[in-house]
Amino acid sequence: MDYSQNQSQSHGHIVMLPFMAHGHLIPFLALARRIRHLTPFVVTLATTPLNLRYLRSTMSPDNDDSRIHLYELPFCSSDHGLPPDTENTENLPPDRIPALCHSSVSLTAPVERLISDITSKDGRPPLCVISDVFFGWSVDAVRRLGTKSITFTTGGAYGTLAYNSLWLHLPHRSTDVEEFSVPGFPERCRFHRSQLHRFIREADPTDEWSKFFQVQLKLSLASDGWFCNSVEEIEPLGFDLLRKYLKLPVWAIGPLVPSHMLQNSSPVSPKSRINSLQKHTGKVPGVSLEKCLDFLNSHRPNSVLYISFGSQNTISPSRMMQLAIGLESSGKPFIWVIRPPLGFNIKGEFRSEWLPPGFKDRVTRSKQGLLVWNWAPQLDILSHDSTGAFLSHCGWNSVMESLSQGVPILGWPMAAEQAYNAKMMVEEMGLCVELTRGVESQIDAEEVKRMIELVMEEEGKGGEMRKRANAVMGQMREAVKEGGDDEKGSSVKAMDEFVRTILGDSMNGSSSSP
Ligand code: UDP
Repeated sequence: MDYSQNQSQSHGHIVMLPFMAHGHLIPFLALARRIRHLTPFVVTLATTPLNLRYLRSTMSPDNDDSRIHLYELPFCSSDHGLPPDTENTENLPPDRIPALCHSSVSLTAPVERLISDITSKDGRPPLCVISDVFFGWSVDAVRRLGTKSITFTTGGAYGTLAYNSLWLHLPHRSTDVEEFSVPGFPERCRFHRSQLHRFIREADPTDEWSKFFQVQLKLSLASDGWFCNSVEEIEPLGFDLLRKYLKLPVWAIGPLVPSHMLQNSSPVSPKSRINSLQKHTGKVPGVSLEKCLDFLNSHRPNSVLYISFGSQNTISPSRMMQLAIGLESSGKPFIWVIRPPLGFNIKGEFRSEWLPPGFKDRVTRSKQGLLVWNWAPQLDILSHDSTGAFLSHCGWNSVMESLSQGVPILGWPMAAEQAYNAKMMVEEMGLCVELTRGVESQIDAEEVKRMIELVMEEEGKGGEMRKRANAVMGQMREAVKEGGDDEKGSSVKAMDEFVRTILGDSMNGSSSSP
């Protein structure tokens, strides 16, 4: 679609630049929708051809989405030493991801062209460019062209601060101790070496990961303000610390989950839920929604454990085996999204040898478990009354989706800022316990059974976690309330503040508490 369409009614133009990974594209599109819904501005999402095709597949032609413009940034993966047609972290082995990260810098010239074209067609530059935190290269480029640069981290405040501070300062390198302090955090929030992914644990400023993150994150610190996909009231410590660290406005505009998930009773029919689900992720689930709902309907409220490790992660064969044994012996109902374990072709077929002999038949026959191949209708599972806890890798989108439904978390963080999200949910929010962390750690079936029993308890620790998760769900629903000034929730007010900032009357560098 031509981005200049509708410009005559335009009150201004906002350009958005997501990083090329599903965990970034999905919240960027959700933010674009939120901006379109709450403001009068034209929004253009710009990304590479295949990512654009993916975004288009998740959008509906018949609602607000038709008012979000898509713009293609030319990109040829083989120019950057990447396999043909590779424009996304999906299906890329971890050691090739830095090449994709570095290749994003080549988008500078096409982004400059886009901004210049908008400027000449609209007669003025865009109001701002909202760039992924990994695209620090865009900050100077868009400023030179007369517009403001806003950073979107796609994460929460606490996790974002931890991720940035750890990469920028590598504090674990100047000490031999297991637990160390991290700039920006108080002493009581010391971090543990095991919370660092191998790439950052072994970083030595000259490796490819450091060369990308240290440069790009630092450049993003110079933007005019940051968006977080979170809610002011659910992580007050995180927002306080992040604002002190950045010394910039930080707007909490989350949770960026589909709006029907934030209503008290979902009036959405199963059929349109399938559509909304597939539109949300652009993926076809490995099980029909009906089958999932039948399974959930056959169990009591809060009795089912949902297990998924996000869009990219998987576990090792030995841990998969221990997880299966522990699950079965706990006797608790579960839905488990299974994909090939580490060391196997991620696009390969299911192999029964990954699980204990007869496991699949037994749990299916007894209705204890539903095994879902590769991809599940996560939003529908989490929003069902029977789902009582989520064994999750603690990716931030999954966290927001789970807490928006009052579902507590059994954490198994693996990469990125997932361990920092888990740390906050354990220590500050009290609605998560960690089963284990990392892809290298050991777990045994006995411990799996014990932890599953703990989180599924109606009373005790599990019950307490569920109460806390329910309280957070309430805060999230309040945060997105629209209406007059007295009724507006904090996330809606934060969007108003962002608007005032880009329109130029409140750029004072202060914090943006609601
Ligand atoms: N997701 C899903 N079905 C699955 C696995 C993941 O719908 O079987 C969605 C999930 O709802 C979330 C996203 O994929 O919106 C995963 O994002 P997250 O930040 O949790 O993890 P990442 O994939 O970035 O590690």
